[in-house]
Amino acid sequence: MSARDWIEKDFYRELGVSSDASAEEIKKSYRKLARELHPDANPGDAKAEARFKSVSEAYGVLSDSAKRKQYDEARRLFAGGGGFPGGFGGGGGGGFDVGDLFGRGAAGAQGGMGGGGGLGDLLGGLFNRRGGGGAATGANRPRRGEDVETDVRIDFTEAVKGATVPLRLSSPAACATCSGSGAKPGTTPRTCGNCGGAGLVTRSQGAFAFSEPCQDCRGTGRIVDDPCQECGGDGVSTRTRTLTIRIPSGVDDGQRIRLANQGEPGRNGGPTGDLFVRVHVNPHPIFGRSGNDVTLTVPVTFPELALGTSLTVPTLEGKVTVKVPAGTNSGRVMRAKGKGIARRDGKVGDLLITLQVAVPNNTDAKSRDALEAYAKTTSQHDPRAELNALLLERGKST
Ligand SMILES: [Zn+2]
Ligand SMILES: [Zn+2]
Repeated sequence: MSARDWIEKDFYRELGVSSDASAEEIKKSYRKLARELHPDANPGDAKAEARFKSVSEAYGVLSDSAKRKQYDEARRLFAGGGGFPGGFGGGGGGGFDVGDLFGRGAAGAQGGMGGGGGLGDLLGGLFNRRGGGGAATGANRPRRGEDVETDVRIDFTEAVKGATVPLRLSSPAACATCSGSGAKPGTTPRTCGNCGGAGLVTRSQGAFAFSEPCQDCRGTGRIVDDPCQECGGDGVSTRTRTLTIRIPSGVDDGQRIRLANQGEPGRNGGPTGDLFVRVHVNPHPIFGRSGNDVTLTVPVTFPELALGTSLTVPTLEGKVTVKVPAGTNSGRVMRAKGKGIARRDGKVGDLLITLQVAVPNNTDAKSRDALEAYAKTTSQHDPRAELNALLLERGKST
């Protein structure tokens, strides 16, 4: 975080408010954005995480009326009126550096206004306060490891009953050789002398004082003299692991199972991330599924439905016999209680049996005669009587 970043950053735009927004508007906008961008709501989305940080940073300044005043003042002085010639700290041809600027500024302040250190103090104070948090210091802060997501494919019956499946994972993990310290086994990292282990150094440029990551230890606060051969000092290496995961009974296609602390290792002593396993379930050739109920379509003949019958059908575990009353319609669903999916929490679904008339597609002369005789005897019965009545009514009204 440099002074230049500060002045170029538009905290108002980050929060989507105008520069004369009230404290209430700022708070409202921040809450909305924070909810949308929160890492918990956007797992693995680096863009959202970066935005979340920016928004938090902007709110940190704009919600504090004293800081907001300082920030507004700084922007008015530097960013206002078409930017800042040459940029900050740009040693490049013709540009002037911060030291120059503040040399003049301070002189002006002394000449013009009695007392107060003027601009230098104002901005120095602002930037110093920043040293407490934010991106620069973040390098040395314990960070939780990333969550890892992977997929697994199981069969329908495995999903119903639960299964134990091996899972091969290739992901970053704490280096096994150095246990994540990054130092060659037998050696330990030492505290960085340049920053005293803070990972940050405070630099003064003219009247500015601001913090930036320590160059010597790259912001980690530790120096590894003798790096681990395996991970090159990072403390993290790609590892192929085989995990045995237990899939609970009743898991559905597309469901995610969370395995706590099986994700990527944390940095700087932060906690390990989680592993999410998305379960894909192969369809069954006969059975289907609707929540905890198992579905099954059973072909029947017209006489079976018309005269009633007793049907024995397969279930997940064995078989069940259902009574079909005389005069049952095709498409009717029969329920065999408790023959569905038994979940871990004790809930048990049913087997839903759909009866569907199978019409023969080649009838011999004898059965055709029988069907025609049947049609004749039942010609008084019109199954479409209600529909026809409706049609008749439509005809009248048009
Ligand atoms: Zn290592
Ligand atoms: Zn250091």
